[in-house]
Amino acid sequence: MAVDESLTKIVEKTVKRAKWRGLSVVEVGDPVLRKKCARYEGQISPQIFEKLIYSMRSCMLSKPGVGLAAPQVGLPFSFAIMEDHVAGARRKGIGAEENLREEGRMEKGRKDEREFSEFPFLVAINPSYEPVTSKKAYFYEGCLSLPGFQAVVGRYLDIEARWEDEKGEEHTKKLHGWPARIFQHETDHLSGTLYFDKCITRSFASNDNCEKFLFPYSISRAKKELGFSLKMKNDED
Ligand SMILES: [Zn+2]
Repeated sequence: MAVDESLTKIVEKTVKRAKWRGLSVVEVGDPVLRKKCARYEGQISPQIFEKLIYSMRSCMLSKPGVGLAAPQVGLPFSFAIMEDHVAGARRKGIGAEENLREEGRMEKGRKDEREFSEFPFLVAINPSYEPVTSKKAYFYEGCLSLPGFQAVVGRYLDIEARWEDEKGEEHTKKLHGWPARIFQHETDHLSGTLYFDKCITRSFASNDNCEKFLFPYSISRAKKELGFSLKMKNDED
C-alpha cells in the first residue's frame, strides 16, 4: 500500500511534539481503544514510522510499561511494541527467578508465577497468536491506558506468535510465560480488547493495594483477601 501523506504529516507532528512532552497515552473510554485496527501496510512513511517507534519506546520505558500498542497513541493500525528485562539479572549473570529471589521479590521455595523471562525489544506488525496448549497461567497485569490499577487475567501459557517486521518479513516464534502474556495483551489491543474484558473483576486492585496484597509475587494472598477463584467465565473460549 502507498504511503498516506496526510496521515504521515499528522504522525510527524505528533512525534515532533513528543520530543519535548513525550507521547500521550490514550486512556480507557476513548473509542480508538475499542476499534478493530486496520492492517498496517506502510501507510506511514518509513522515516516517520521509525521516529514514531522511537517515541513509543521512550514513552513505554518512561512510564514504565512493557508494551504499547498503536491505538494507545491514537493510531488505529495493527502494530505494537513490547519489551521487558529482568532488572539486574543479566548484569549478574543469573537467571530471572534467581534474581527475583536475590532481590527479595520472591520467597524461597516459591515458584515464579509470572514465569518471567527476558523479552528483547520487539516491533510486532500485524501480530496474531494461537495457543499451543489450552493451559492458562493466572497473574496480575496492568495497562498504560488504565493507569493505577491491575487485575488477574488468565492467559495462555504457551503460544505461537506471528508478526511482521518493518521490512514486511514474517516471523513465527513460540513464547512462554511472561513474554507470552505481554504478546497476548498487546495483540488483543489491536482488536479493541482490553485486559479488563478478560480479567477476574473481583481481583481488580489499585497498584498500591497490589503491592500490599500481591507481593512477594504470589496471587494466593490476593485470592484469599479479595475472595476470588481462578475460574473465569471465558475460560472455555
Ligand atoms: Zn495495555
